[in-house]
Amino acid sequence: MLSLVRPPDVVLEIDLAAVRTNFQNISTYVGNQVRVAAVVKSDAYGLGLVNIARALIDSGCNLLFVANLDEAILLRSAFSTIAIAVFRDEFDRFGTFYRSHGLIPVVNNCNELSAVSKAGEAQTYFLNVETGFSRFGLSIGDVRREYLLRTFERFPPSIVLSHLACGERIWDETNVLQRDRFQIVYDLLKPTCGSLAASAGVWLGKSYHFDMVRVGSALYGINTPTVQANPLQTVAKLRARILDVRTVQAGEAVGYGATFRTIRTSRIAIVGIGYKHGLPWSCANKVVVKLGEHSAPLIGRISMEYMTIDVTDVPGCCNPGTFVELLCDDFTVNDLAAAAGINPQEALTRLGAGCTRKYLNLSSPTAAFTANPPDAGED
Ligand SMILES: *Cc1c(COP(=O)(O)O)cnc(C)c1O
Repeated sequence: MLSLVRPPDVVLEIDLAAVRTNFQNISTYVGNQVRVAAVVKSDAYGLGLVNIARALIDSGCNLLFVANLDEAILLRSAFSTIAIAVFRDEFDRFGTFYRSHGLIPVVNNCNELSAVSKAGEAQTYFLNVETGFSRFGLSIGDVRREYLLRTFERFPPSIVLSHLACGERIWDETNVLQRDRFQIVYDLLKPTCGSLAASAGVWLGKSYHFDMVRVGSALYGINTPTVQANPLQTVAKLRARILDVRTVQAGEAVGYGATFRTIRTSRIAIVGIGYKHGLPWSCANKVVVKLGEHSAPLIGRISMEYMTIDVTDVPGCCNPGTFVELLCDDFTVNDLAAAAGINPQEALTRLGAGCTRKYLNLSSPTAAFTANPPDAGED
């Protein structure tokens, strides 16, 4: 029998040691008065929920945020004791489910809050307050009304949180407005833990940290553009295999739409990665890939399964089977996203979903369970 087992053409290499280092560096940066919770929603931004979570738990992280109950269940089946919070998923409807799996709801509206009161004092929950994002969370008016009804006296939230809309823009007045609004709620409810900042908010300074930051992007090496010297280690590297190399005469078109035309006799390599794998279609004709010491421009449009590069100036033979590097230390997901005109989170989640993922520096599964600090667990 013929076997089709063979190495993949596209590999997204994920360095878990870099994730651990990023977590530790952010923890050091915010100081030991500020807790660092990790956001692992959307399959840990495409990098793989369970493996990323394990790396973070290993580094001392003791609170993970997921997008919904499906992700929470997956995480709970891998880690029986870690605190898991769900950003949004119908607590008013699935309360029993949250309790049986030991999951913490983020309460986003008054219906969910009333479900908390019905569940009684034992129900741990986080309260999300809307301060200028207009997505989820109780309005400040809602908070005031519930406060007067003494809801929070009877059922205090473990954490009160809100989310910044413009954390990436250091000078944006919206940040100040949101912080001031959050401060009003914080002073009113006096929670044991308040949390406003996500990754970008970390770099806005101490007054944005409150008691806890919730970081996703930064852990995965996505830097905030205004932070000049990148303090983060690269987590994701991407390489793809050359499938064919051909010579093309001067003046010939390359790819759909003939957006590139050769100006000389050219050697063109067809590489086995396309937008199916999450490579942004809009980075056509805009990026350069690496072949060892050399580089080659991506030419013509990206098709579903392939892209083409010009290897005319790459000395020596570059044969089918050779890998080219699309993401590396010198050209990160931030750079790729900038070239493509999309945000790096979008680029990463799409690549993670579309490529074969390979992990470097996996820690042992047993280590993940013994590395919890003594004070780990729910607040
Ligand atoms: C996604 C998300 C975060 C993490 O954001 P990053 O910018 O990736 O760090 C934090 N809080 C909330 C509410 C989120 O939705």
